[in-house]
Amino acid sequence: MGRLALVPLALMAVALALPAEDDRLEEMRGKTVLVFTPHPDDDLFGAGGTIALLNRKGNKVYVALYTNDDKGSYDPEMTSQHLAHIRKAEEEAAEALLGTLKENLLWMGYDDGMLEYAPQPKLVEEATAIIRRIRPDVLLSIDPAEWYERWHKTDHRMAAFNTIDAVRAAEFWLYFPNQRLQQHLEPYTVPVILLLSSAAGSQLLRQHRQCGRSQARSGDETRQPV
Ligand SMILES: [Zn+2]
Repeated sequence: MGRLALVPLALMAVALALPAEDDRLEEMRGKTVLVFTPHPDDDLFGAGGTIALLNRKGNKVYVALYTNDDKGSYDPEMTSQHLAHIRKAEEEAAEALLGTLKENLLWMGYDDGMLEYAPQPKLVEEATAIIRRIRPDVLLSIDPAEWYERWHKTDHRMAAFNTIDAVRAAEFWLYFPNQRLQQHLEPYTVPVILLLSSAAGSQLLRQHRQCGRSQARSGDETRQPV
């Protein structure tokens, strides 16, 4: 629990290793950070301020996005393909505001709301390959707790558990050995994992909403991110 004091209120730490005093998240420089997000907005609502701070401090931030968010529109003329295109552009714009490079957004390409029905070994293998390739000093993922169970529970639950499964698999090369033998991806142990809580990102909410216009309904200012 000691690590809880080391990170912003938006985050809850999972103690895999206790960082030294000079490894406080807000003081981190020159590190590699990997954020896993179910949808292109959970990273912004959950850790937008933290991502901005990390970028500003010279860290290299990557965001792995499980889904393309291609379902959440009230427009009867909308298509999933077009909505995915809109959401991708919005995510790129929003992350650019936070200082994240467009090429550091890693799109896994699953359909919105369908993550729980994706082939699980394939899903874990893909997330494992991302971890082994990026080799993050710190990994951020969402907390599979009550709030996320209620809001869009399938994608959030699946992304949360799948990411943790991938963290474990990444350590042992005999999980998906083809990654080492054919792609030269060596096993990797993630030193620090932080879980996003639902209360995060409020300061950037308004800015993000300006980038994420396609998700807003008129007069719907209190709608929760999903
Ligand atoms: Zn979401």
